[in-house]
Amino acid sequence: MTNPYRQLPSLDALLARPELRPLIAEFGREAVRDEARGLLDAIRAAIRAGEAPPSGDAIVVRLQDRVRRTLAPSLIPVINATGVIVHTNLGRALLSDAAQRAMMEVASSYSNLEYDLDAGRRGSRYIHAEALLTRLSGAEAALVVNNNAAAVNLVLRTLAAGQEVIISRGELVEIGGGFRIPDILAQSGAALVEVGTTNRTRLADYENAITEKTGLLLKVHQSNYRIVGFTEEVGIRELVGLARRQERPMPVVNDLGSGTFLDTRPYGLAYEPRVQDSIAAGADVVTFSGDKLLGGPQAGIILGRKEIIARLKRQPLTRAFRVDKTTLAALQATLLAYLRGTATEEIPVWRMISAPAETLARRARAWADALTQAGVRVELRAGGSAVGGGSLPGQTLPTTLLTLPTDHPHRLLAALRAHTPPVIARVEEDAVAFDPRTVLPGQEAALLNGIKHGVKVLLE
Ligand SMILES: *Cc1c(COP(=O)(O)O)cnc(C)c1O
Repeated sequence: MTNPYRQLPSLDALLARPELRPLIAEFGREAVRDEARGLLDAIRAAIRAGEAPPSGDAIVVRLQDRVRRTLAPSLIPVINATGVIVHTNLGRALLSDAAQRAMMEVASSYSNLEYDLDAGRRGSRYIHAEALLTRLSGAEAALVVNNNAAAVNLVLRTLAAGQEVIISRGELVEIGGGFRIPDILAQSGAALVEVGTTNRTRLADYENAITEKTGLLLKVHQSNYRIVGFTEEVGIRELVGLARRQERPMPVVNDLGSGTFLDTRPYGLAYEPRVQDSIAAGADVVTFSGDKLLGGPQAGIILGRKEIIARLKRQPLTRAFRVDKTTLAALQATLLAYLRGTATEEIPVWRMISAPAETLARRARAWADALTQAGVRVELRAGGSAVGGGSLPGQTLPTTLLTLPTDHPHRLLAALRAHTPPVIARVEEDAVAFDPRTVLPGQEAALLNGIKHGVKVLLE
């Protein structure tokens, strides 16, 4: 019997294999050598445990796999076949072509990010996008920060630290990722004063809670849940009236969460509070996300009265929440589509919301035909897509689903996730379902390959 350890290549011999050249070019010699050393150690341990030594070719494959598994970029594109448009786990909003181009331009060239071209001296990054935002919303001034959580924190800290903030019990929500309104309030140094009950809060509840310690009245969009039945809430206009009637008037702040400029009702959805409606109702500050229903980059948008926005801009914390230049570029381009009136054609979130049922059915039928020809058994079913992003919970847009009946839906989902690019689908009763609404036209061939791959894995 030959010594099994002798059959293993030396580290240098392994690294000299020509098949590994691309791997070394991509990840660097040092990282590949470290992984190779670790792999050879693991193989020696397996031999000690009684396993046969692998072939040289098998070692190369395992090394390639090991290096990619640990060092290949982990953030990669996936195919969203869930039908959830603003999918919080899958990167939320996709950017329009114009926004992508704007991002690229400002990323690859110097820009006037903080330079005043008229005066020839230092300028402010906070002026970009402001004119577009005020024009679209009717607000006096605007400030863009990194995300809406930062926006809410900044506003509360600046306007209400050391004071009390009055909010309805029905709005003490937790948004995804552990963002809880009571915690945000505590972090900002404001004391929470809850009024009303979970399902009913009246104007008198706010009125009775106002003291000389009250810093502001806060209204928060319920976001990802809805109270139905015996309910009552107070609108922005009434809150503003109450705040103005006080001896010492206080601001009314409205955290809209998803924040939309467009009306959701023409698509058969309920009314989602619009940014401009909140401003028109008199809210002193409105905050919302850039990458939910707005359909732009991740950002927190703060609109409001000039003097309040000026205070926010001076607050030192704003520096920590400041927005990146590529974000500003993408946001400007996104807002321009609203100004032109082409948002439903240009902005992917709105293109998906407004996709005609007939187009969705036609795409699902084409997928079904292609898969049937490949010997895969599929069915078309009527179903519903969701807007997501914490807006319009429980409401759906009618769609046509491609479904694959199977006794092992979770095994099929796992095989789809393991495909390149990964396919994320969902389970509908006894089947795995694919919704054309969120699958990009350019991804259809990859989707069908992924499904065929998944079915093959199921049969193994
Ligand atoms: C989503 C959401 C937030 C947080 O916004 P991010 O952009 O995720 O930081 C805050 N408030 C409400 C009501 C939300 O829906």
